Amino acid sequence: MPGLIPERFIDELLARIDIVDVVQQRVPLKRAGRDWTACCPFHDERTPSFTVSPAKQFYHCFGCGAHGSAIKFLMEYERLEFPDAVEELAQSVGLAVPHEGGAARPREDHADLYGLLDAAAAFYQRALPDNAAARAYCKKRGLDKDIIERFRIGWAPGGWDALKRALGTSEARLKLLEQAGMLAAGEGGKRYDRFRERLMFPILDRRGRVIAFGGRIISSAPPAREDQEAGSPARTSSVSSAHPAREDQKAGVPARTSQQSPGPKYLNSPETPLFHKGRELFALWQVRQANTKLERLIVVEGYMDVVALHQAGITQAVATLGTATTNEHAELLFRAAPDVFFCFDGDRAGRAAAWRALESVLPRMRDGRQAFFLFLPEGEDPDTLVRKEGRDGFEARLERATPLSEYLYGELARDVNVATLDGRARLAEHALPLLAKLPDGAFRDLMFAELEKRTGFRAADTVPRQPARAARGAASSGSTPRRTLVRSAIAMLLAEPALALHAEPPYPFAALDRPGVALLLELLDVARARPGVNTAILLEHFAGREEASALQKLALTELPGEPEALRAEFLDALRKLGEQTLQQRLDALIRKQSESVLDDAEKSELRELLARKANPAVP
Ligand SMILES: [Zn+2]
Repeated sequence: MPGLIPERFIDELLARIDIVDVVQQRVPLKRAGRDWTACCPFHDERTPSFTVSPAKQFYHCFGCGAHGSAIKFLMEYERLEFPDAVEELAQSVGLAVPHEGGAARPREDHADLYGLLDAAAAFYQRALPDNAAARAYCKKRGLDKDIIERFRIGWAPGGWDALKRALGTSEARLKLLEQAGMLAAGEGGKRYDRFRERLMFPILDRRGRVIAFGGRIISSAPPAREDQEAGSPARTSSVSSAHPAREDQKAGVPARTSQQSPGPKYLNSPETPLFHKGRELFALWQVRQANTKLERLIVVEGYMDVVALHQAGITQAVATLGTATTNEHAELLFRAAPDVFFCFDGDRAGRAAAWRALESVLPRMRDGRQAFFLFLPEGEDPDTLVRKEGRDGFEARLERATPLSEYLYGELARDVNVATLDGRARLAEHALPLLAKLPDGAFRDLMFAELEKRTGFRAADTVPRQPARAARGAASSGSTPRRTLVRSAIAMLLAEPALALHAEPPYPFAALDRPGVALLLELLDVARARPGVNTAILLEHFAGREEASALQKLALTELPGEPEALRAEFLDALRKLGEQTLQQRLDALIRKQSESVLDDAEKSELRELLARKANPAVP
């Protein structure tokens, strides 16, 4: 783990750099008096309200309020994390970033590794024009020189040691090649090139350095459907997670694929000190280069799909690297752009991968973020489709993509009959643990509203909301007691003890875990046991107990004067308390369901509670 960057270094760095330079390199600035100005890169505008002050060394936008130091600017503009922004600025002025505690940042140690991987990319690039099949393949795919250059697409020659011979010129370099995942070990420990006869796609980190490779076979015969499914990167892991035996194939161990088979369609570098596939996105760097302002990202499954989309002018396409969408990917995607489109094949494997993606984005669906799901026609992928339909055709498909809410409810409704009460309860049962993952905000509220619309199940207050809870806690610490349902019921009972006769035990709210419930139950018992008691007698019953003064105050509460209205309100309060009890139990079951496993009794209880919630008229 890298240690913390000391504060004094940040001070020194900010003293050494000039924010005007930092901004100017990215956004053209015009002098305006002592300051510099430009159209704001963080919001849409025609007249410049973005200013950079050399004296104060900060930027400020009078339009959208964006402001901060050079570090903040780099974080926002390049979407870097703090340590990377600091690193970037430090490099620009020739400073090395010190780290307190922990190990030094791995960067220095890996300088050789980066250099070697870059040399490997260059080696593959040089080999591409020499291979007729690879050249023909690129031509057939409509890749022009510029796009091949932009993605640094290359060719891994056949044989077993082309790269090894070219770059492994010393024992140290051989070790590095191995460390970088470029060599694989065969039987007897003999090292050979991991990538052979493949079109090579370098995977770049967020600073544009080569950290790994993906290699694609280019067999001219269209690969069998089977092969395609096992090979497309997003697919591989969803398949392999179900069948761990496939893991080997993914890693491209040749012993398994040595016969006629050319191996999986896509082969990736293994995990290395520089490459953690769950944390990287193919082409994110190219996307950032092509888009100063990023409104959307399109996640596709294969590298060739990404390249084809960029070639067609859709320059916001990225791919995950041989894994399904992870939570880290989801975070990375949304930090880069507010709208994320997930593109999948329409077949079963594609649907499964899409569902995994949905689960990973739910906890990140903060307001202002949107996720869409696009399913392609059977047998098509973005590459074939964009070549067939062109940019406009693909854009039109994106426009018709399914929003997350629709996709989620559509999938859940697939196997249930929402025309029946049981079906709606089942739908709610499946939806709740998913909706519980949503962060607080308008989107969450909308999703619950949608659930209510579809099932009649009012769930918005079923799943605990942390911030709302905190707010409630704060309110209760004030001096005036809040008017809760329990308090109201007690106040009404004190004012008119005979109301107790309208409530029959067992009380449905007896198990409710709320302050005051025990007191309410006791009051009901006392009032029922002594018909004809008045307020004063009830109060006297509690004399000398700590609840006494609270009850005194409650007895002074203003209440509806009409006996009819009072009774209706009292019974309504008890009914609502009953509902809260039900919700509390639901909460507990749903929480348990998301953390561990429910036993059969709990499962049927949950289903029954949901059914009762969905149709409160049924007792
Ligand atoms: Zn602005």
